[in-house]
Amino acid sequence: MTTFAVVEFKGVSKIYGAGDTEVRALDGVDMRIHRGEFVAIMGSSGSGKSTAMNLIGCLDLPTLGAYEFRGVNVCELDADQRALLRRMYIGFVFQGFNLLARTSAVENVELPLVYRRVPARERRERAMESLRAVGLENRAHHTPSELSGGQQQRVAIARALVSDPSLLLADEPTGNLDSPRKREIMELLVRLNEERGITIAMVTHEPDMSVYVSRVAMFKDGKLVGDDAPEHVTFAGPLSTRPLSSRQSS
Ligand code: ADP
Ligand code: MG
Repeated sequence: MTTFAVVEFKGVSKIYGAGDTEVRALDGVDMRIHRGEFVAIMGSSGSGKSTAMNLIGCLDLPTLGAYEFRGVNVCELDADQRALLRRMYIGFVFQGFNLLARTSAVENVELPLVYRRVPARERRERAMESLRAVGLENRAHHTPSELSGGQQQRVAIARALVSDPSLLLADEPTGNLDSPRKREIMELLVRLNEERGITIAMVTHEPDMSVYVSRVAMFKDGKLVGDDAPEHVTFAGPLSTRPLSSRQSS
């Protein structure tokens, strides 16, 4: 397999404030995420996880160093170009689901395609297909308040997937859920990663979640201090043992 880096940080620092109040939220981070990986970004509170996610998602720019997304130097793009890149290539999933309240599941899932000016009929077909992928086609016309927390997060995942992104970025996707629902969401993400070859980067502060992923990137005080496949992988299995046929190019 060619090692195609979806994400490449080269000496990335993010510095807030100046002088005495300077905070190095990220401090000289070198990190790559390859196509087909499922990476957990872990570390204690304040270690730089959200800052790293904001940079990976092209929502913010490094103070120092370079960030390449799919080989493109993000620092050379203006805000509109970065917005376009996000819309085309990145799906976001947040802890709080972020669904429109009085809008049905299928309409929520269609939204990214509205921004991409996909015709209505194709939009609906793709949204239904995406809901099928998360096992919610029979809830398509329910609004978020008529769905459980786990179901709402599955709608949010369907919305993130509908535009066929190169990278799914999830920030504490199980943070608001009880244990059975956490497991359900993690198993869904593993399935999407293994069966569809979707590259996933997920922030979590819950060590239990590392059993599901192929790699853990551990942050401490803005530095990447560990970048390994966890030893105790049981469910997902290390990436290198998965059949090549289960990975598709994206
Ligand atoms: P985590 O997500 O791991 O909890 P963050 O990336 O949010 O950590 O924060 C890393 C460090 O950067 C913390 O010390 C935090 O206080 C600081 N920080 C984050 N965002 C800002 C900001 N907008 N202004 C100033 N300091 C910030
Ligand atoms: Mg955070």
